[in-house]
Amino acid sequence: MPNCYCENCGTKSSNIASLTSGNCKNHPNGTFKGKHQLYEGSEKSQYICKLCGTKNSSITGLTSGNCKNHPNGSLKGKHKPAL
Ligand SMILES: [Zn+2]
Ligand SMILES: [Zn+2]
Repeated sequence: MPNCYCENCGTKSSNIASLTSGNCKNHPNGTFKGKHQLYEGSEKSQYICKLCGTKNSSITGLTSGNCKNHPNGSLKGKHKPAL
């Protein structure tokens, strides 16, 4: 079974049910309101932010940075991996 990842923070899990039951520190609604959300793309050697084009070798690395083009504002929104 392939690994699944959270598109907001890069948390890795072996199944979707356990992934989406956990709180996500990078969720746009806040840590205690939002769960991890499944990244529906495939595993890649490089991930690109769909909002600004920033690249990183992991979703965790990509989503740890603030995105200047995020609709929530550059200090609130993280990079979002394109599928
Ligand atoms: Zn998450
Ligand atoms: Zn970005």
